[in-house]
Amino acid sequence: MSSPETGIRSIEFEPLNIPLIEPFIISIGRLDHVRNVLITVTLENGVIGYGEAAPLEPINGENQATVLATLQTCVPLLVGRDAMQWRKLSGELAGIFSVQAAARAGLEMAILDAVTKTMRVPLYQFFGGYTDRVETDISIPIVEPDRARELAQGITAQGVRFIKIKVGSGIEADVARTLAVKEGAPNSELQLDANQAYSASEAVELLQELRARGVRVRLFEQPVPKHDRIGLKFVTDQGRVPVAGDEAVFVASDVMDLAHIGAANVVNIKLMKSGLVTGMDIVAVCRAAHIRLMIGGMIESKLAMSCSAHFAAGNGGFEFVDLDTPFLLAEDPFEGGYRVEGPIYHLGEIKAGIGCWPKGRPSGMLE
Ligand SMILES: [Mg+2]
Repeated sequence: MSSPETGIRSIEFEPLNIPLIEPFIISIGRLDHVRNVLITVTLENGVIGYGEAAPLEPINGENQATVLATLQTCVPLLVGRDAMQWRKLSGELAGIFSVQAAARAGLEMAILDAVTKTMRVPLYQFFGGYTDRVETDISIPIVEPDRARELAQGITAQGVRFIKIKVGSGIEADVARTLAVKEGAPNSELQLDANQAYSASEAVELLQELRARGVRVRLFEQPVPKHDRIGLKFVTDQGRVPVAGDEAVFVASDVMDLAHIGAANVVNIKLMKSGLVTGMDIVAVCRAAHIRLMIGGMIESKLAMSCSAHFAAGNGGFEFVDLDTPFLLAEDPFEGGYRVEGPIYHLGEIKAGIGCWPKGRPSGMLE
């Protein structure tokens, strides 16, 4: 089956380097520049789809160079194929490039952008149209308490209700940072993300220390190393707060493994870990297993973050939304995408596709 109109005419890719406003420090490392990849898919009908791969090496082992190399190999497999067969194409890519999820996610994004522009439907409606907006949290990295308090005050002033605090720098320092955030933003709901930094007993101790100081925690993300499912279950059982698996979940069967032993209450879905099609599978498994949904990211710019916003809004049911990384970037190389109002991303004005394209280039939509 192939269609001359929706055949893939060409796929181009290039580095997308964007400076951060200030270095971003979490428990697994320090970043001062985002080095992503922009992917451009052109169909025979003239529609152009844009995608972004945002690799984060400590999380998924990919970096800009491996993404570029993966795409080099993918392109000959896709040119000439029918973009309307996007699920089939995605399955083939997943079979060959199983661990190169960020590269696949960028390609899937560009292909689905082109498909939905051809169909003249915004991506969130294509995913189900559950709602046309999401409300993101804002993250505070591992910084000194004074800086954390100052950041929390600034975040609150923007109307943000949910603050995510990066932890994993030792219980004492984490408690001090969290208390400072609470002082700076007394009415915010607080989430913690340890990015695998603690043992299960340390994670429970951190929660106990915070509870003793009157801090309520809305969510504790990936307290323990990703392979320690029993440890994750221990925190879920003993911590008395909802616990999310993030680094522990890349594919749908990971959710089944967690659900089987009751190891997590929430799963953080990131398109860069799973790709879009597997991301949909993860949503389905979570729903069946009564695991609550979160969407997050690596360090995406507005293009891939818009795609994630479409994914969460369209599928619906995402109780936790962590799509704040475009706020960290010193430049926005894109036009269109969601409209930002405080922490709310509005998608309702987007006419077709992701609705986000590189500045100075064609939007790629049909006339
Ligand atoms: Mg996380």
